[in-house]
Amino acid sequence: MIHPLSVTIESESINKQLAFEGSMRRIAVYGKGGIGKSTTSANISTALAQRGLKVMQIGCDPKADSTKLLAGGRIPTVLETMRDNPDPELEDMIHVGENGVLCVECGGPKPGVGCAGRGIIAAFEKLEELDVIDQYRPDVIVYDVLGDVVCGGFAMPIRNGYARDVFIVTSGEMMALYAASNIAYAVNDFTHDGYARLGGVIQNSRGVEDEDALVDKASAEMGTSVIHRVRRDPAVQRCEARGVTVVSGEPDSEMAASYRELADKVYAGSEDISGGMRLED
Ligand code: ADP
Ligand code: MG
Repeated sequence: MIHPLSVTIESESINKQLAFEGSMRRIAVYGKGGIGKSTTSANISTALAQRGLKVMQIGCDPKADSTKLLAGGRIPTVLETMRDNPDPELEDMIHVGENGVLCVECGGPKPGVGCAGRGIIAAFEKLEELDVIDQYRPDVIVYDVLGDVVCGGFAMPIRNGYARDVFIVTSGEMMALYAASNIAYAVNDFTHDGYARLGGVIQNSRGVEDEDALVDKASAEMGTSVIHRVRRDPAVQRCEARGVTVVSGEPDSEMAASYRELADKVYAGSEDISGGMRLED
């Protein structure tokens, strides 16, 4: 990909100015806890990286395991790093995973202590302060965000101009659809700010009776549609046990092909927007 930033410019000030014109996909994957956001995100990131794109996946869930299939295990979170080191560098918080995917985990407070949403805000502010975009110049950022509650912190990617295109992962289970509908409401509510917009629903099937019809109906009520149905497949567990994505661990499987198709749809259904970590007005 030809990047406007590939031009070397002597002047510091022009460099700085140009740095904020980097254009990239800013994708957010939302959904209820345990529904399959991280598995889906990691497979999308791997598939896009294998297409030659520089991908950065940012986990925004206090569970901090978004990137475990990419990084080969858990990585230190931004919040942990900030706690241990008052003056951290980006290299301490950004880990290069399989296929060159840049892995970041925001992290969260200890269970029962503090506010997880505020942790995400603090992590984003630190990454922004350290000029993460300018330093790494990704083509795609994938935010993997817990959406059980869409409080200020978890709404941060969609509200404060970080993410552009939002995809919701759900099954046909009632609680997953309930969370999905709340997320859709929050996105549609912020759409008038000109930032985030709903790109569609990703069905991660659980084998609920009439699941396709249930998810179709709920998506229509959210004002969107299902872009892809991922089936339930034991390849996911097999690869998880090896610490890899299906796309990289069983590349010739039907499941890998399905994830690649999903990644292409997500890419086609989103757009490059210029700006730093936040998109430009
Ligand atoms: P979340 O990030 O939404 O909390 P995860 O991606 O961690 O959820 O998924 C939870 C578990 O569900 C994973 O450990 C994985 O084994 C399983 N899983 C997710 N998607 C599938 C699928 N399509 N087929 C089989 N298992 C799946
Ligand atoms: Mg997760």
